[in-house]
Amino acid sequence: MTQPLRLDTHCHLGEYQDPLATLAGTAADILVIAVTEAPSVFRALRDRFAGQHQIRVALGAHPMVVSQFPPLEWRLFAQYLHETTYIGEVGLDFSPQGAPTRAAQEQAFMRVLQHVAGRGKVLSIHSRRAEARVLELLTAHSVGPAIFHWYSGSLSVLDQILAAGHACSINPAMVHSPNGQKVIAHIPRERILVETDGPYVRVGQRAAQPADVKIVYDFLSAQWGCDEVAAVTQVYHNFKALLPRPR
Ligand code: MN
Repeated sequence: MTQPLRLDTHCHLGEYQDPLATLAGTAADILVIAVTEAPSVFRALRDRFAGQHQIRVALGAHPMVVSQFPPLEWRLFAQYLHETTYIGEVGLDFSPQGAPTRAAQEQAFMRVLQHVAGRGKVLSIHSRRAEARVLELLTAHSVGPAIFHWYSGSLSVLDQILAAGHACSINPAMVHSPNGQKVIAHIPRERILVETDGPYVRVGQRAAQPADVKIVYDFLSAQWGCDEVAAVTQVYHNFKALLPRPR
């Protein structure tokens, strides 16, 4: 069996001033999925992070920017799709900031889902105030299991998401908030993944970085009554279960 790795399944690694220095302070046994907001950013990061064994770059189309995508971004999405197993950040945002572009977001998300359907991709999904609609579109396109990142919707929709086979990635901000803890307690341990959403999540006065997954693993081991190695092993197993099987 391969050594279980610590995971940061949703980190905006390209947004740090010096991403590789940020990672250098981290134990070697961490795997970071570097999410992106646009295919042109994927292209830049895949070159920048080439040969970095700890990093997987995800192809993204973030709901807060897709309404402004020029056609070139969609050409790049199709072009780079075969280069990565990871798709993110994608999804919908119907919060007050996202609501005005709802129609464009839905169109874009459906476009993404058409591209990835049946291709064994692992999606990291943004679903703020749009959880039920995201689930509906995933189901309609037979896409999944996907990872709902930083889930903050109702527990009843969460039940439907879990019943459909999807997983959730949790971060230090959730661990520190009463609502986040409620969500975490609701997810079976076989469906939990770990993320930082750095640098957007804060840890005290600073930006979260991949090493801060430790906060989440410590929380999980307390919750599960096990040691940290057992928590790391469980989450890694959960992650492996999402990966496409070699044919
Ligand atoms: Mn994010």
